[in-house]
Formats: sequence, C-alpha cells, structure tokens
Amino acid sequence: CGIIGYTGDRDVLPVLLDGLATLEYRGYDSAGVVVITGSASPELRMVKRAGKLDQLQGVVREDDLHGTVGLGHTRWATHGQPTDRNAHPHLDQVGDLAFVHNGIIENYAELRAELEADGVSFLSETDTEVATQLLARLRRDEADLAEAVRALMRRLEGQFAFAVVDRREPDRLVAARRGAPLVLGRADGANLLASDVAGLIAHTRDVESLLDDQVAVLTPDGIEVTDVHGAPSSGQRFTVDWDI
Ligand code: GLU
Repeated sequence: CGIIGYTGDRDVLPVLLDGLATLEYRGYDSAGVVVITGSASPELRMVKRAGKLDQLQGVVREDDLHGTVGLGHTRWATHGQPTDRNAHPHLDQVGDLAFVHNGIIENYAELRAELEADGVSFLSETDTEVATQLLARLRRDEADLAEAVRALMRRLEGQFAFAVVDRREPDRLVAARRGAPLVLGRADGANLLASDVAGLIAHTRDVESLLDDQVAVLTPDGIEVTDVHGAPSSGQRFTVDWDI
C-alpha cells in the first residue's frame, strides 16, 4: 500500500522509517524494511512484521541495518492474511534480491504454477512473492537487474507498482509501475522513490511521476527511465510548491 526507497549518502534506516510514517495515512496492516549492508560483500538485511509501524520499530536494530540503500513497505493485504511471512519485502530463494509491491498481479496463479513446476518453493501466499521468484529466474538470463525487471513487466498482468534491490548491484533501486502510483525524487546526494509525494518532500521538491509501463533505475548519482523495451523515456517532472 505504501512504498519508500532511498539510495544516497545517508544512513538509510531512519529515512525509510520516517518515510513509512508519512505514508501511514494510506492505511496498512503490516510493515517491513530491507537494507543493503556491508560494502565488501553486500548482503540484504530484512525485518518485517504484521501490525502497525511501532511493531516494526520495536524489532529493528539500527546496529544490524547500517547501509545507504534500502526499501520500506506498508502492506494492505489482498493475497494472503496479514502475517509476518506475507509482509513485504519478499526475497528470492537465495536472498540476492528483495521486492516490495503495491496492487495486484492478476496472473499470479499461472505464474506460481509455472515456477513450482520448475522446482521453486514459496514461503508466502502472496502474488508479490510470485513476481519476486519470477524476477530471480529472469535475472539469470539478463544482463542486469533493470533488463530483468523489463522482462518481468512483459510477463505480469494487473495493476501494480513495485521496487526492487539486488545485492549484486548494491548501489541501485529499480522500480516500475502499471496502474498504481509511483513517484521519483532527486535530492542532494541521493535519489528516492515513493508511492506518493508525501514520502518525498522531506528530501526534495524535484519530483517525477513514473508513467505506466516505465522502468526507473535510481543510483545516488541519477535516475534513468526507460520503457519496457529499454528505450529511453521520461516520466512527468514537476516541482512541488505546496506543503503537507
Ligand atoms: N497484493 C500484495 C499483497 O497482498 C500487495 C498489497 C498492497 O498493495 O499492499 O501482499
């Protein structure tokens, strides 16, 4: 229901928790964060809990979650009960990538059956984990995460927005949308994404709305937007001149 993502020069955990607090009004039943830790051999560290944000805040340990790239999510359950396991982020089987998602993937049952036939086992009942495991499969045959996300977009049906991090490309966030909102923000030394402008304005007023079937790659130095085939594109860029 709410997504926040940051890649930059600051410690990311407080940015994610503050961002989730500003998105709270959207309503949710679970919350989670993932941070890329360790520069020599980057790892994903994830914490997620059913319940309100204070449930999550009660269990995140800042010492374990040092990093400058990460994602946060608040969930409004549509596929599977509001449990810790069904909360986002979701990881692929080997823990290389983490995925947060808003909305619904309509063809998840067929995709899940296809992946199960191929030996993939699932930890949750969500449509989100299906997209996560499929992305991990596609990532094997593609040059990089953004290519794999474009391939994923060509397989998914429904209305959704999602964002992903991969420990093999530890400086970046990759995000895409179709029929659900996602905004990008350019700040000093950092770039961010969120489900709406409320999640960004503590950092920047320079905002770009991603359009349907666009894929964005965010690093601390810049934002690149393409269509699902990889052709350069751009969202709708504007300056936020109001306060919340
Ligand atoms: N369909 C997903 C789930 O049930 C995402 C729901 C949301 O938008 O928060 O986990």
